[in-house]
Amino acid sequence: MTLRHLCLFCDNPANSKEDVLPVWIQEKVKSGKRPIIVNGFSGDRPIIAQGMKSNLKTACVCHDCNTGWMSQLEADGRLILGPLMEDIGLQLKGNQQLTIAKWAVKTAITVASFNRKTRKPFYTHDECARFRKSWDFPPHTLVWLGRYSGVFEIGIFGIDGWDNHPKHPEVTRSYITTLTFQRVVIQVISIHARRNLQGGIINMRLIPGRWPESLLELRPSGSLFWPPSLSFVDEGELSLRQLAQRFSIGRSPMRPLTPDD
Ligand SMILES: [Zn+2]
Repeated sequence: MTLRHLCLFCDNPANSKEDVLPVWIQEKVKSGKRPIIVNGFSGDRPIIAQGMKSNLKTACVCHDCNTGWMSQLEADGRLILGPLMEDIGLQLKGNQQLTIAKWAVKTAITVASFNRKTRKPFYTHDECARFRKSWDFPPHTLVWLGRYSGVFEIGIFGIDGWDNHPKHPEVTRSYITTLTFQRVVIQVISIHARRNLQGGIINMRLIPGRWPESLLELRPSGSLFWPPSLSFVDEGELSLRQLAQRFSIGRSPMRPLTPDD
């Protein structure tokens, strides 16, 4: 059995299909008989899925993980994210921010493993296993929370980034996941620093934007008030596209996400 057939988070076989965006979010977004539209892009290519269920599933985890800690994390995440989806402003304590960040990292790992028949997942098996065992986040991982007031119900944007040519031996590689569902926007960046960085600084360049007013960086201490003063929309400098591509580094021409891939 090759590594790609193992559960992302442990050494069991990957025998359980995980929804890329959880069923409870799809159910909450759905209204009447109108189909759910999932919109986004990878690199500059579109991600589009439509139906009564988004059908974006990936066989990436085992039954024990899916019905155990992942299911518990969904329940915990839902308690906090549910009200935010309905546009209810909340003071988020450190432990609530940590729960959202854990949920976001779990979802980012799932999104980053999509298409793993044709693409090596960004997060290593070791990083994912440590996350499951002790909630160690992958190295150099940051999570932000914002508000979205545009027309899309569900958006999933996964982007690979590099600070040099992808095949260069000293490349620093990153993966940026941007998710939106109803009024919530979450962005996760994880960076695999090049091996010979030796305590040097990772240089992530941001495109100019009103990021401090539109994003809250999640931290396990201190409290934050959601929503931030500015919301993301569909056009202009506060568009989701600008947000997803705000790190001005090399980007992947990755295949678009398709149902049942
Ligand atoms: Zn597992």
